[in-house]
Amino acid sequence: MQTGTLYIVPTPIGNLGDMTLRAVEVLRDADLILSEDTRTSGKLLKHFQVDTPQRSYHMHNEHRLVDGLVAEVGSGRKLALISDAGTPGISDPGFLLVRACIQAGHRVECLPGPTAFVPALVNSGFPTDRFVFEGFLPPKKGRQTRLGELAEETRTMVFYESPHKLLKTLDQLAEHFGPGREIAVCRELTKLYEETLRGSLEEMAAHFREHPPKGEFVLVVRGAAGA
Ligand code: SAM
Repeated sequence: MQTGTLYIVPTPIGNLGDMTLRAVEVLRDADLILSEDTRTSGKLLKHFQVDTPQRSYHMHNEHRLVDGLVAEVGSGRKLALISDAGTPGISDPGFLLVRACIQAGHRVECLPGPTAFVPALVNSGFPTDRFVFEGFLPPKKGRQTRLGELAEETRTMVFYESPHKLLKTLDQLAEHFGPGREIAVCRELTKLYEETLRGSLEEMAAHFREHPPKGEFVLVVRGAAGA
């Protein structure tokens, strides 16, 4: 039986100029594009003159769809997975389908491309030789435990956060890591109001009390000293 390929295709996190030539080629050449939100992706695809059909694939239907999609790849089709922004599988749906395709012996290819944590990490000025990607902290259950575990982490830590939870997270990080621990707060990467603010957890919490957070954020925290 002929086997197809599952392509994981990163899309811009704000600036359309970050779409790669290969991402456009792969999306044009695919038999089907799996999109987190077909309306959002519809605009992107139109901009890049991609007319491949889309099907919706998101956190609420992925469990139900995985087996059928694996069978489609197995029958020789080329499926391309995209998310609303950045790299699928990075704090976005993707992992389940990648794992299932690998288990079925199908070809999986992830293109390099936009993702928010890499520019944030590099912009932070903290060591990049070793780091941990923590994504979103657990919203409730397990949150305090996770923060407790990370207090002694010596590698640079990267977190994703939404604007409405930013202050609470900065306060909790200060509580667990100490108010003087250094942080870089990266906002609106690749967009018009992109900025990176650097200082202590206490200073950043004070700043965002004065200037209510707006936009998308990546937090990069210096690892614990020692070790
Ligand atoms: N798949 C994406 C990636 O590869 O980075 C991440 C998707 S996750 C649902 C969305 C989170 O990513 C946001 O809450 C924010 O923490 C981060 N993010 C995405 N775009 C960003 C941007 N332009 N500037 C800062 N953070 C961003």
